Amino acid sequence: MRQDLRAACVIGWPAGHSRSPLIHNYWIKKYGLDAEYRREEVTAEKFASFIAKLRDKGYAGANVTLPHKEAALALSKPDDRAEAVGASNTLWFEGDTLCSTNTDVEGFLANLDSSVPNWDRGLETAVVLGAGGAARAVVYALIERGVERIHLVNRSFERAQTFRKRFGPKVHPARWTEMTGLLGAARLVVNATTLGMSGQRDLDINLRCNDAAVVADLVYDPLETSLIKAARARGLRAADGLGMLLHQAVRGFFLWFGVMPEVTAELRALVEADLRK
Ligand code: NAP
Repeated sequence: MRQDLRAACVIGWPAGHSRSPLIHNYWIKKYGLDAEYRREEVTAEKFASFIAKLRDKGYAGANVTLPHKEAALALSKPDDRAEAVGASNTLWFEGDTLCSTNTDVEGFLANLDSSVPNWDRGLETAVVLGAGGAARAVVYALIERGVERIHLVNRSFERAQTFRKRFGPKVHPARWTEMTGLLGAARLVVNATTLGMSGQRDLDINLRCNDAAVVADLVYDPLETSLIKAARARGLRAADGLGMLLHQAVRGFFLWFGVMPEVTAELRALVEADLRK
């Protein structure tokens, strides 16, 4: 391997579905870097030994996807975000130390900041659907932004309750059947479940919220989910999952290659075309 070539990768099992190579290689070309972003298929059993040799393999860092995000947290020095979310998706070196963060937090916030300006102005109450890893990143992001009341609605109520233990009294766990009643007071509604994804059932929701409410869907395949369609049809402002996916990639690129990349319309169109394939 050439010594001057900088490299990063996405590590997953499987990793074939990841759009990260498309995004980072677009930026590498756009900024004229002598660098490469690769895909590494690594099983759960081999993850720790792969990480131990990450630098020897010539990598400045990596993205981590399923099923390795918890292991990545345990095998690195996580920042506050990764620690709070309980999962790391981005690794980089500071000296000899392998550090990690969870960029879904900033991806969620940056996407809303750029696609729905002032979305958080006067925002007191949010409804978040889902209690998986993505929901943890969303809840942490909302608390970071100062949202006072987060109703966490999940099919399995017990899982929703773990959020109060993890994130404190701003989180109010709720049952799936309580969702409609909670929407009236919400100024932000976020879908962090897998409902609405291609191959999954649609999210069946009656959007009876205030006209000023904002709707965000983390699902990005399909590009326009039925939730986003319904929000737009009702005249509500909406942020889609693809925007979050693109924005969450920014910091890793900066940490590995030293250039702060831009989420452009051209990049979005490139990933959209790939998702439509
Ligand atoms: P996860 O950990 O598997 O959690 C899945 C969540 O969906 C759980 O809350 C689960 O409820 C709920 N769910 C699944 N089937 C359901 C059903 N039939 N009815 C009601 N609830 C159901 O998944 P995740 O990693 O958090 O990801 C969630 C979504 O976010 C995925 O679509 C993922 O692609 C997306 N995501 C997008 C980005 C982005 O950058 N745009 C980033 C991260 C994730 P139970 O707890 O009751 O099972």
